[in-house]
Amino acid sequence: MAFDGQDPHEESIKVCCRFRPQNQLEKDQSGKICITLGDDITSVYVPNIDSSFVFDRVFGSEASQKEVYDYAAKPIINGVLRGFNGTVFAYGQTASGKTHTMEGPDIEDEVQMGVIPRMVWSIFDGIDHAADYIEFVVKVAIVEIYNERATRKHLRLSHPCVFSGTAGIRDLLDPKKDNLKIHEDKARGVFIGGVTETYVGSEQEIFDIMKTGKYNRAVAETNLNEHSSRSHLIFMLTIEQKNLHDRSLKVGKLHLVDLAGSEKVGKTGATGDRLDEAKNINRSLSALGNVINALTDRKSTHVPYRDSKLSRVLQESLGGNAKTSLIITCSPSYYNEQETISTLRFGQRAK
Ligand code: ADP
Ligand code: MG
Repeated sequence: MAFDGQDPHEESIKVCCRFRPQNQLEKDQSGKICITLGDDITSVYVPNIDSSFVFDRVFGSEASQKEVYDYAAKPIINGVLRGFNGTVFAYGQTASGKTHTMEGPDIEDEVQMGVIPRMVWSIFDGIDHAADYIEFVVKVAIVEIYNERATRKHLRLSHPCVFSGTAGIRDLLDPKKDNLKIHEDKARGVFIGGVTETYVGSEQEIFDIMKTGKYNRAVAETNLNEHSSRSHLIFMLTIEQKNLHDRSLKVGKLHLVDLAGSEKVGKTGATGDRLDEAKNINRSLSALGNVINALTDRKSTHVPYRDSKLSRVLQESLGGNAKTSLIITCSPSYYNEQETISTLRFGQRAK
């Protein structure tokens, strides 16, 4: 696609569905598959509930990282390089392939790298090919939105209700800043006050920063797997370009989001604090769903961005001229059928 070749008919929210291969646990359970993919590459049928779900694209378990990127994420780069905002989300139950899709098993492996490193390469490629009179500034920030209770457990013992239902924002490039606030003003729009923004000049610098963020996230919590399934990770890239001829300035922001696991509360048998936390995650994911529904529903006049910290942070990257891709990730196995169905329903509502 040419640098300026934005398709005016292209929808501003695209929803794709990706199935991963069955894992060992699922194979050991029965190894049975609960879905049938349509030949049209846009639909998936669930025999048990006799329902079909239609998306912009459905990727089977053999789909490559490049295929997913080319369809779901690459078109967003053109907009960002023209000064528009863009967002890519991965939504799905824990272990369904969100991190595999967004980061991949190795961010520096050409074949296995996921959406984030591929977008980073495309942005620098766009910068390399831009006219000489355009000057670029690229900044990176990485934050997570987590449940405050997780780090304030000792306080909750004496004040059981104080932190219930609240979420915190932690700066993963400076993790002692773990309660950042969202601000809004005329000049800057909606922004996270005091967040570390690192200026970068190459792909490699960004990959090093991603590793720092991952390390800090691991240090902040003792059990990374459990923690990462309960918090939203947001990777933010800001691309400013100054035209040295007419002094005009364009700013495009990219938000790449690995969401908390969408699994339902009941299944994990959570009680007490854990139940509150699980409800809180479900609430922020359904608030996100409501925002996306309002944006895709022409009759809707109010977009409820303020209902969660997640949708508030992403406010300017959703709707308007922004381009959004939602990638729902699912297990194809009978073992996870109920979660797969609720993920498909979430994706369907976003269409
Ligand atoms: P999540 O981030 O949703 O919790 P992960 O991305 O960590 O899930 O995936 C769980 C496991 O499944 C990982 O070992 C990952 O490598 C593997 N996996 C996920 N998606 C795929 C895929 N499309 N192809 C091959 N392996 C995958
Ligand atoms: Mg993950």
